Amino acid sequence: MRNFLVAGNWKMNGSRAANAELLGAIRAGVEVGSSAKMLVCPPFPYLTETVAALTGSGIAVGGQNVSEHESGAFTGEVSAAMLQDVGCSHVIVGHSERRALLGETSETVAAKYVAAISQGLTPVLCVGETLQDREAGRTNAVIDAQLNAVLELAGVSTFAGAVVAYEPVWAIGTGETASPQQAQEVHAHIRGLIAAQDAGVAERLQILYGGSVKGDNAAGLFAMPDIDGGLIGGASLKPADFLAIAEAA
Ligand code: PGA
Repeated sequence: MRNFLVAGNWKMNGSRAANAELLGAIRAGVEVGSSAKMLVCPPFPYLTETVAALTGSGIAVGGQNVSEHESGAFTGEVSAAMLQDVGCSHVIVGHSERRALLGETSETVAAKYVAAISQGLTPVLCVGETLQDREAGRTNAVIDAQLNAVLELAGVSTFAGAVVAYEPVWAIGTGETASPQQAQEVHAHIRGLIAAQDAGVAERLQILYGGSVKGDNAAGLFAMPDIDGGLIGGASLKPADFLAIAEAA
């Protein structure tokens, strides 16, 4: 009953010329009528051009981050209303790189999630444990804390309009992907946490896996019952790989 979503997180990569080539190749290769929805998340300066390049393709566009504030004196920040205004439907919130390198706490992430929801954007809420967490047996506890911060501020009903991405930090950009079983275990745990508050919302919630997803390992991950697509970093910059991942979904 859930559709698949294959989302590309370009991170701080691209140029006008490179993006035009990448988007052209994705557009040309996308399977018409394929059941998987696709989303690309370029850096802010390229959002408008990306929206224009993808008009009529059915491929959605999202931001990689959003301010928790509505407007005003927040130099360098971008609001949810602005993302909405330029044609974004989604926004990534709480990516582990922002949590680890830019000091975003689970409380900040929750506020950003609320900002996105309040403008009608679909937040792609990222959660995930570090290798130390996993080795110490704290995976579920870390995920619970990250999700509970959002549940407490926003309420479970908002998850009807949200996407969750499970991204183990140790698998991001490392080439080391979680096994389908490892990922499924955490995905089922996440769905269970939501189901404890609202079974209907949990049943419909798209939970993506992210962390070194490639054309050749996507099918195994996507075959798992609680994995509803992927959040793709490195491979989303390679049209053949990104299209192969979408094909697997
Ligand atoms: P990766 O990144 O696919 O390059 O591991 C995933 C992500 O950070 O969203």
